Parts: sequence; C-alpha cells; structure tokens
Amino acid sequence: AKEKEHLNLAFIGHVDHGKSTLVGHLLLKAGAIAEQQLDEGEDKFRFVMDKLGEERERGVTIDLAHQKFSTNKYDYTVVDCPGHRDFVKNMITGASQADAAVLVVAANDGVMPQTKEHMFLSMTLGIKQLIIAINKMDMVDYSEDRYNEVKDEVSDLLRSIGRDPASTPFIPMSAFEGDNIKELSGNMSWYKGDALMTALDKLVPPEKPVDLPLRIPIQDVYSITGVGTVPVGRVETGIMKQGDNVIFEPAGVSGEVKSIEMHHETFPEAEPGDNIGFNVRGVGKNDIRRGDVAGHTADAPTVAKEFTAQVVVLQHPGVITVGYTPVFHCHTSQTACTFLDLTSKLDPATGQPEATKPDFIKTGDAAIVQIKPTKPMVMEEAANIPPMGRFAIRDMGQTVAAGLCLKVTDKK
Ligand code: GDP
Repeated sequence: AKEKEHLNLAFIGHVDHGKSTLVGHLLLKAGAIAEQQLDEGEDKFRFVMDKLGEERERGVTIDLAHQKFSTNKYDYTVVDCPGHRDFVKNMITGASQADAAVLVVAANDGVMPQTKEHMFLSMTLGIKQLIIAINKMDMVDYSEDRYNEVKDEVSDLLRSIGRDPASTPFIPMSAFEGDNIKELSGNMSWYKGDALMTALDKLVPPEKPVDLPLRIPIQDVYSITGVGTVPVGRVETGIMKQGDNVIFEPAGVSGEVKSIEMHHETFPEAEPGDNIGFNVRGVGKNDIRRGDVAGHTADAPTVAKEFTAQVVVLQHPGVITVGYTPVFHCHTSQTACTFLDLTSKLDPATGQPEATKPDFIKTGDAAIVQIKPTKPMVMEEAANIPPMGRFAIRDMGQTVAAGLCLKVTDKK
C-alpha cells in the first residue's frame, strides 16, 4: 500500500473549551484508541472520558499529545498543546512543528483571553492552516444564531492576524456528544459544511522548502578519526550537495563540503528534514559551535546586529520593559538579547497598534519591539525563511514569550 502523507496537528484554545475532550473523541471515532481500552456494552466514548476523569482526579494528566490517528487520506500526529511546559519551545526549535491547528472555542463562552493569545501564537509559530471548532453546541441548544455570533467574533480575530475568515473552515460541534466529528450531526441540520474529519482531509500537507536558501543550524560538533570535524544538524531549508561551498555564521569560516552522512551512510546531497553530519574542508572543531548556522557562501546566513520583532507575551510574572535581557531560543542558538525599544502594542481584536511606545508589556499582550543580541547570532526574516525567523523567549525556567522576526539589520 502507498504510504499516506503525514500531518502534525495542534489543538489550541482557551482552557476548558474542550480540547482534550475533542481529541479523545476524535481518536475514538478514528479507531485510534484500542478496543481493549473499552468495555463491552458500555457507551464507549463515555468510558474513555470517565477514565480520563479518574486519571484527572488522581492528578495524572493523560497525555493526548503524541497520539496518532489516521483517516482514509492522511496519518496525523497530535502535537503538544500550548500550556504544556515546552510546547512553544518545541514548536520553535522544530521538534514538534504543527502543520495545522484546530482552534477550539466554546459556544457558550465565545472568544476568551487564551483564544486570542493562541490565535496570535499560531501565527507567530508559523502555523499556516487553521480549523475553527465551535464546541459545546449542546450547551446552547444547537442554536444557529449563537453559532453565527461566535463565528463573527472569531472572524474579527482572524482578520486581525491577516487571515481570511472566508477560507477558514468553521465547524459547530459537541466534542462531548460527538456531533460533527466524523459524520454530520442531525442535531444541526442547518449546518452545510464539513464534519471535522472531512475538513482535516482537506488540509494541505507541508511542502519541503527546497527552493529557499540553504540553512543548517548546528546542533553539535564532533571530531571523528579518519574523517575530521563533523558538524551535525537538521537541514531546515534548501539543498546542500557534496562539493558546495558553505560558510558557518557567525563563526565566519567556510570551505568545500567533502562528505554528507546520514545514519552511517554517505549521500551526495541533503534536503529539508534530513538530520546529517557533514565534513567541510579546512573547518576545525574549535572554529564552530552549536548555534552556528551553515549556508551557501554565496547566500550566507544573516548575522543580526538588531532586529524588529513581533512578540506575544505568554506567561511573565511581571512586566517587560526596555532593557530586559532574557535568553532567546532561535533554531539551535541560545543568546541573551536586549529589548531596545517597545515600538507599539497591538490590539488583539483588530491587529492595529493600540498604543505607541508603551511603558511596558505584560502577559497576553502582543507588540512590535526592537531587539539587540548581546553577541552575534543568526536571525532571518520570518517572511523569507520561516523556520529561521521564529524564537521563544525563556526566563526563570519557562517560556515567557514567543515571537517572529519582521526585519533584520545585517551586521555587515
Ligand atoms: P480543555 O481544557 O480545553 O482540554 O477542556 P476539556 O476537554 O478538559 O473540557 C472541559 C470541560 O468541558 C469538561 O468537563 C468536559 O466534559 C466539558 N466539555 C468538553 N466538550 C464539551 C461539549 O461539547 N459539551 C459539553 N456539554 N461539555 C463539554
């Protein structure tokens, strides 16, 4: 049988709006939860959810992340949700990049603070495709009017981040009752769109960014007898061939690619997604380090003097002001960077600048800021090379903010 294409899915939205319930019920409907987990004759879904309930009472979080399910068309992996400890960092460093997200909004509550925050986050993290699940329709008597009200609220939010509501699927659902998960529900005959699983099958699988400039963030540098220095990393964008001239930045050393290795085999070239070790003529172990980025000498990685960024503050116990210097995690680099200027705060409802030159920004705020790395680092504009232009800001052992680079001022 032909191998199915694969998509990573994130479930985002305000706490208690039904993300876990939706994932649990979806896994069940897709046949991904093993039969032995279910009792004969029981209402199967209830049984699974009751089990989740028990686990919760015992204080154990059932890990619905990293669960896999399939439809006729694709294989899916559910990736971690925001709120889980390392979600943002894992998304940004590529460990669990989501190809699409289902934004869950409860019909009774409508848009809530985390609905906005996660919508901004989805954009910051480069998630191109969104499906809006308007959940808990059973709690509003399956009312079409209420559905339309919430749909309008969410549409405003979508416009504020530059997405077109008309090309975004909206689905009225009850995760609890199972309405519109696999088949269209008789409880909402007024709805003429797709059930969730049908909408998932209309998503577009990610394309390998082979046409972008070559970028390989370095994870480690080894010294191997008989080969020499072997930097190791995953190709994010572009193609590297044996014989190419490459440069490592900010180290500034360059040479010709002698060999490319993957799983102990040599290959003539490497493409996006490949985890490789390679050897470059004349580049020694002490010339380069983790956080450097390899690219073609003719189209070298950008070393940022300063950059303009859009950031979302996720969980900061205090406020962020000019002068704040936390650690930025971007590709494999970890570099302390200073907030030089808070240029404007954005209104999450409209995406428009709400205040220019705010004195501070706090949890839940989105803003345009000016950043200066304390030492040389590679940063690309997210619009040009998306995976190289996203970052997580860590401080006090947690991810306090996430952002993307809008404009970079080159060191040279
Ligand atoms: P999460 O925090 O977004 O993961 O939300 P949960 O999945 O934990 O759901 C929060 C609460 O809402 C739980 O008590 C669920 O049983 C309930 N819930 C979730 N979806 C629905 C739904 O479609 N209808 C109703 N009536 N309750 C729901």
